[in-house]
Amino acid sequence: MEKIYIIGIGLIGGSMALDIKNIYSESSIYGIDINDENLNDALELNIIDEKGNLNDLSKADLVILSIPVDATVGIIEEVLNNISDTTLVIEVGSTKQLFCEVIEKNAKRRNVLATHPIAGTEHSGPKAAITGLFRNKTNIICEVEKTAFKLQEKALKLFNDLGMRIRYMNPVAHDKHIAYVSHLSHISSFMLGKTVIEKEKNERDIFDMAGSGFESTVRLAKSSPDMWTPIFRQNKENVIEILDDYIANLNQFKSLMEKDDFDTIYNEMENTNRIKQILKGIE
Ligand code: NAP
Repeated sequence: MEKIYIIGIGLIGGSMALDIKNIYSESSIYGIDINDENLNDALELNIIDEKGNLNDLSKADLVILSIPVDATVGIIEEVLNNISDTTLVIEVGSTKQLFCEVIEKNAKRRNVLATHPIAGTEHSGPKAAITGLFRNKTNIICEVEKTAFKLQEKALKLFNDLGMRIRYMNPVAHDKHIAYVSHLSHISSFMLGKTVIEKEKNERDIFDMAGSGFESTVRLAKSSPDMWTPIFRQNKENVIEILDDYIANLNQFKSLMEKDDFDTIYNEMENTNRIKQILKGIE
């Protein structure tokens, strides 16, 4: 029977646990989390079978590390000290460069697979966990060649069973590209929410007048600062670079408005409609 330890039993760890329980009914899932309320919720929701302990990791066949990215780099050495030679550790953080650097020289490097499942919601904690979250989603795997071949195979079987497609990428490229498509979207949504809250003092008006456009654009502003602050800290340079481009576009849009140049504004929007074709198939 497979023993699976999930460190961080929130949205991602909890959703993995739910699917794993469905697919591998023989497995036992142990949850480890600094938040005891989340652990109790996970037990009650039948997401985990038992509470676990970092000292028990030598018994684990699989460890899933799904905690905020700063906590991940803080805990990984202890995790690797505690596992057996055959344990697979799958890490799922949203940044990859620092994590891969931190484990580079570790004697158990070959036990670790650095991944980023491009799946999630704006909600956190085990109550936000859902089945099928990873189906038809991409999983980015970094430095696959640094993981022992047998453990790679085991992980790929799991991802295939979860319904994921795989994309291989080096950690530097991952952090750059993910800053564009994910990290910038979150900043944009947080700052849209902030701007409207500051400008529109009457919360009832926001509620009454917010159409689906505002609601969908501001959705990511509900995301957890505990998760996002460390992501921005770890990917600071890439995020600042793309923010410069974004701010330049906002300023250009404003200046076109000031000049009553609505023909250019029309063209800008029409050109950007290409996003429909680019994203075809994702929805
Ligand atoms: P989450 O729902 O907040 O769950 C994380 C859990 O880990 C929480 O229960 C948290 O407790 C706990 N925790 C925090 N520090 C810990 C530590 N040092 N040791 C043990 N437990 C700890 O977060 P999530 O959305 O699942 O994200 C987990 C990881 O997946 C992050 O690295 C994130 O970057 C990555 N990821 C997220 C998404 C997404 O869309 N959410 C997508 C792909 C990857 P507290 O609640 O008390 O902090």
